[in-house]
Amino acid sequence: MEHNPILVIGAGPAGLEAARGAADLGYKTLLVEKAPVLGGNPILADYAAITPDMENAERAMKRMIDAIIEDPLVEVRSETTVTAAAGDAPEITVTLAGPKGEEQITVGSVIVCTGFQHFDPGRETQMYGYYEYDDVITLVDCERMLKAENFVQPSTGDKPKRVCFIQCVGSRDRQIGNFWCSKVCCGIACKEAIEIREMVPDCQVFVFYIDMRMYGFWEDEIYWKAQEDHKVNFIRGIVTEITKRGDQVVIKGEDTTMGRPVEVPMDVVILSVGMEPSEGTTETAEIFQMPLESHGFIETVGGALNTVTTARPGCFAAGASTGPADLEDSISMAGAAVMKAAGFLRKHTLAASKSV
Ligand SMILES: Cc1cc2nc3c(=O)[nH]c(=O)nc-3n(C[C@H](O)[C@H](O)[C@H](O)COP(=O)(O)OP(=O)(O)OC[C@H]3O[C@@H](n4cnc5c(N)ncnc54)[C@H](O)[C@@H]3O)c2cc1C
Ligand code: SF4
Repeated sequence: MEHNPILVIGAGPAGLEAARGAADLGYKTLLVEKAPVLGGNPILADYAAITPDMENAERAMKRMIDAIIEDPLVEVRSETTVTAAAGDAPEITVTLAGPKGEEQITVGSVIVCTGFQHFDPGRETQMYGYYEYDDVITLVDCERMLKAENFVQPSTGDKPKRVCFIQCVGSRDRQIGNFWCSKVCCGIACKEAIEIREMVPDCQVFVFYIDMRMYGFWEDEIYWKAQEDHKVNFIRGIVTEITKRGDQVVIKGEDTTMGRPVEVPMDVVILSVGMEPSEGTTETAEIFQMPLESHGFIETVGGALNTVTTARPGCFAAGASTGPADLEDSISMAGAAVMKAAGFLRKHTLAASKSV
């Protein structure tokens, strides 16, 4: 059956899985990635290990990349974006802008996998001092140090003695308009807390939380492991201010279980930043005229029974482009999106062959 290729936009975990799935089903696939490298946030943000198996992130992503890179049905274009789209599926003409200039290609169906960006804690509405104090870092900065196997207090280069995580930074925050839960940061904080305790056994680790939201099996397991096996201290509380005293940063806030004010010095403070729609997600939605849902991610219209179909016929979305998602969610959605895209093309090709 002749058909135009399936266009997958974004080569993170979701996009790589979508491209692999489409090719496995025998469909020509064009995978477009704006970064020079494939692998999405796990590679671009230098994740160390990924849950649930704590596999080295680079190795895990390489496995996904290897699965498509030699496949004759998959054409990969890195450093490339879609800048315009005209017509309707199964004949959408897209304009690609890449290293060799602009080119127009007709595609049959589209799967958007443009992912998320990490919340920038330097916004003026935030009081965490991220851009003021070297020792206030994010989950991503922490991943980089863990990957380098060198977890230190940034301002001194020494091994820290006291580290804390602050949860829900840029999430569940009506003041800044991000009122959603980012879903992965509780689990990731527990993961990093364990890694820090393993790397720097003398270091005490604290987690300040509103409530810990452990969504699935791996999150739940890692939470108990952090507490029971690695003696991570969980404090239900609200942090209202971070200041500097000598070599340390001081956390001020309230312990909401005990109902008393807290003022504790730390060597390193790690902000558990949330997930926001990436710029690429917003731009791609506009190009393909896909409505966004109320949080700014791509809206899918099938409710609980169809999580990947967008309002634009023949166009689907998967992974963190549709909302906060862990790897399991992203990969499962990519599989569902491929199935829908293949079904869409097959129906149209059959209808066309009957009408001849
Ligand atoms: C610090 C941290 C650690 C994490 N660790 C884990 C973990 O251990 N386990 C787990 O299950 N989950 C983890 N996650 C969540 C995980 O990162 C996401 O589930 C996953 O990255 C989502 O994959 P994705 O492909 O949807 O999006 P992304 O990883 O965001 O990939 C999107 C891709 O699309 C590309 N793109 C964007 N715009 C365009 C455009 N216009 N044109 C072309 N390409 C574009 C981007 O460059 C990127 O390559 C972690 C999250 C954080 C914040
Ligand atoms: S996953 Fe945890 S840290 Fe992240 S927004 Fe939800 S409750 Fe807050």
